[in-house]
Amino acid sequence: MRIDLHTHSLISDGTDTPGELVRKARAVGLDVVGLTDHDTFDGLDEAVAEGGRVGIHVVRGMELSCSRYGDSVHVLAYGADPASPGLAAEMARVRDGRLGRLAGVLAKLAELGVPVTEAEVMAQVGESPSVGRPHIADALIQVGHVRDRQEAFDRFLADGGPAHVHRYTIEVDRGIDLVHEAGGLAVIAHPWGRGREHVLPPSLLEALVRDHRLDGIEVDHQDHDAETRQRLRALAANLGLLATGSSDYHGAGKLDHDLGCNTTDPEVFDEMQRRLADR
Ligand code: AMP
Ligand code: ZN
Ligand code: FE
Ligand code: FE
Repeated sequence: MRIDLHTHSLISDGTDTPGELVRKARAVGLDVVGLTDHDTFDGLDEAVAEGGRVGIHVVRGMELSCSRYGDSVHVLAYGADPASPGLAAEMARVRDGRLGRLAGVLAKLAELGVPVTEAEVMAQVGESPSVGRPHIADALIQVGHVRDRQEAFDRFLADGGPAHVHRYTIEVDRGIDLVHEAGGLAVIAHPWGRGREHVLPPSLLEALVRDHRLDGIEVDHQDHDAETRQRLRALAANLGLLATGSSDYHGAGKLDHDLGCNTTDPEVFDEMQRRLADR
């Protein structure tokens, strides 16, 4: 059993349609794939239908933009009901914030001497309801200011970078509660990736388990080195958290995140399914 529980389609900032993503997951030999687009459930029906056609189990997921005292924290929601009013309302606010920050980013980019227009960005956004920095990066590539998304992040768009603009997100404890209210499981994505250990120290993870019944943390992720994975795995065992592993695949949008490059233990996935059946 090969299980990859965190991927993105062009319904957010990946580059494959949901159907293409599912077919590729099948082609590389995965048995289970979770589609977890940023702050939207819109790709799930297509992905599940394609999964039925090609014979791969598709898990309904979503990656919710949360924060802790202003620092970004991503919460993966599995099996959450898109119609749950509290979660749906907050997701709509988050998506509005994504669009609302665009003018500010474009003003900064113009000041930095790498102008792109809103129309150029929206051409990259296409049908996605979730406008992301990778779309702005794609516009910068298109115009010829940078070679790839990574250069756009490194020079301009990364958190705290010269063209970074704050956007609305949900406090992580509230985000976990909303996912639970919607009947889903909450798993913190790449908790210690990109030097983020200080944002989510063990004491905070312990509090989120105790006070908000956090279900799991992503341990095997490309943003965690071997030593970080080991410490996170030990912490998960201590706190009774499910430890997942995933690619965070973004199609051509992210190198070194091939489908199935990290996977989730089948026993962990079984436990996730048991918990979902109980909700
Ligand atoms: P946004 O949804 O607009 O906050 O952008 C988040 C997306 O950009 C996610 O797919 C991240 O993987 C990607 N991202 C965030 N920071 C970086 C970074 N420093 N380098 C490359 N990609 C990044
Ligand atoms: Zn993304
Ligand atoms: Fe993420
Ligand atoms: Fe992701």
